[in-house]
Amino acid sequence: MTAGHDRSEIATCSGLAADTAPAGAIHSLWLDTACQAPITQRMEGSLEVDVAIVGGGYTGLSSALHLAENGLKVAVLEAREIGYGASGRNGGQVNPGFKLDPHEVAGRYGVEAGERALRFVHSAPDRVFELVSRYSMECAPIRPGSLTPAHSEAALRMLERRAEGWATRGVRVRMLDQGETEREIGTSRYLGALLDPRGGSLQPLSYVRELARIAIEKGARVFEGAAVRSLRKRASAWVATTAHGEVRARRVIVATNGYTGRLLPGLRQTIIAANSFQLATAPLDPSLASTILRGGRTASDTRRIVRYFRKDPENRLVIGGRGHFGEPTRARDFSHLQGALRELFPQLAGVPIECHWAGRVALTQDGVPHIHEPEEGLLVVLGYNGRGIAMGTAMGQAIAEYVGGNAGALPFPVTPVRRIPMHVFQRLYLAAAVNWFMFRDSL
Ligand SMILES: Cc1cc2nc3c(=O)[nH]c(=O)nc-3n(C[C@H](O)[C@H](O)[C@H](O)COP(=O)(O)OP(=O)(O)OC[C@H]3O[C@@H](n4cnc5c(N)ncnc54)[C@H](O)[C@@H]3O)c2cc1C
Repeated sequence: MTAGHDRSEIATCSGLAADTAPAGAIHSLWLDTACQAPITQRMEGSLEVDVAIVGGGYTGLSSALHLAENGLKVAVLEAREIGYGASGRNGGQVNPGFKLDPHEVAGRYGVEAGERALRFVHSAPDRVFELVSRYSMECAPIRPGSLTPAHSEAALRMLERRAEGWATRGVRVRMLDQGETEREIGTSRYLGALLDPRGGSLQPLSYVRELARIAIEKGARVFEGAAVRSLRKRASAWVATTAHGEVRARRVIVATNGYTGRLLPGLRQTIIAANSFQLATAPLDPSLASTILRGGRTASDTRRIVRYFRKDPENRLVIGGRGHFGEPTRARDFSHLQGALRELFPQLAGVPIECHWAGRVALTQDGVPHIHEPEEGLLVVLGYNGRGIAMGTAMGQAIAEYVGGNAGALPFPVTPVRRIPMHVFQRLYLAAAVNWFMFRDSL
C-alpha cells in the first residue's frame, strides 16, 4: 500500500516530468488546493474481480463506486495517480447539456434514443451534486447556475433556440440581455447570455480524489502506477496485464478518454486528443472580485475556440481555452490566454498570474461521446468533448446499471470503433481548424 502521493508524483501532474518542469512555470491551482489524496494500492501478483476498470478519472471511478455499491468486486487500474488525466486538471465547471441542442438530438439519434440522450445530459449535473452531498465529499461544490455568453449575433440566436428547446422540457433557463450580462460577468464583450440553473462548479481534483476515496470505502480496489499494457481474453475471462501483476475479470471497462494510448487497436484514432490550457490569477481583492462573475456562476462562451472562466473560492479568476498540441513548458505558451484575459477583463491589468497548467480533452468527429463494445465483456466510453465532469459521473452510474443487467441503461447507442480518416495528420487538422475558427470567432 502507498499513502497517496509524494511531491514528485504531484509535480508530474502538469504533464511534465518533475525534473524538467521549470520552477513555477507549469503549476496547477488544483494541486495546491485539493483535499488529501486517497490511500491506494500498488499492483503486485494477480487478482480476480468481477470488473476491471482502466483509468482513474471520473468515468472509471464513478463506475467503480456504483459497481461496488451494487456489491461487485472491482479493481481500478490507473497508470499514474488518481486524477492524473483531465479529471484532475479541468475547469471544474459542472455543465449541463452537450454539443447538440435539444432540437438537433432527434435528427442525430431518432426520437426515442434522442429523448434518452437528452434525459441523460439533463440530469447529469444532478448526479454529481447528489453524490457529493450523499457522501459529504470535500470538493467546494456550489450550484448557482452557469452562463453561456454570446460572442456574436448568430451565437445569440443559437442560444435563444437552445433556451427554447430546454424550456419546452421544463428547464427554467433564462436569456440575459447585454446589460444584465455585463453586470453579471463584468465585461462588455458579450451580447447576451443563457443562464442555466442546472450548472455549478467544484474543485475538480478534490472531486476525483473523493470519488476514489468513496469507491475504496465501498470495497473497490484502486491501484496507482498500474499502466495496463495488454488486455487479452483467456477462456471466459479478460486479463489486464501491468508491469507488476495482472487482473482477471469477467468484464473490462476502458475509461482513458484523452489519455487513450495503444491498448486497443484503433481506439486512439477515434478521437483527437487536444490540449486545453488554463491559468489562474492571484486572489482578487474583494471590491474587484465583486465586479466579476458576481453571482459565483461559471461561464463558457459560444466561440468555437471556447473561452471558459470562473472564480475559485478564494476569488482567483481561472480562465481556460484551447492551446497548441505540444505539452506547454513555459508561461509564454499561455500568452494567447493572457491576451484573452486582458481583452475580457482589462480591469485585471496588473493582477499577477499564479498558475498555468494544461490537460487533454478527447474530441470526437461528431461532437458527442462514444460507447463501444468491440467484444463481449469489453466496454469503452470516451469523447466527452470537454464536458466530462457531469457526463463522466453519470456515465459511471449508467455503466453500473448496464453491467447489472439493464440493457437499456446506456445513454447513447453503442457504435463500432471507427478511426477518423487520416488521423495521423490530426495535429495539422486541428491546428488549421483552430486558426480558421479563431479567425471566424474574431469576425
Ligand atoms: C484543461 C481542461 C479543462 C476542462 N474543463 C472542463 C470543465 O470545466 N467541465 C467539464 O465538464 N469538463 C471539462 N474538461 C473535460 C473533463 O475534464 C473530461 O471530460 C473528464 O475529466 C474525462 O474523465 P475520464 O475519467 O473519462 O478521463 P481522464 O480523467 O482523462 O482519465 C483517464 C485516465 O486514464 C489513465 N490511463 C490511460 N491509459 C491507461 C492505461 N493503459 N492503463 C491505466 N491507466 C491509463 C490516464 O492516466 C488518466 O488518468 C476539461 C478538460 C481539460 C483538459
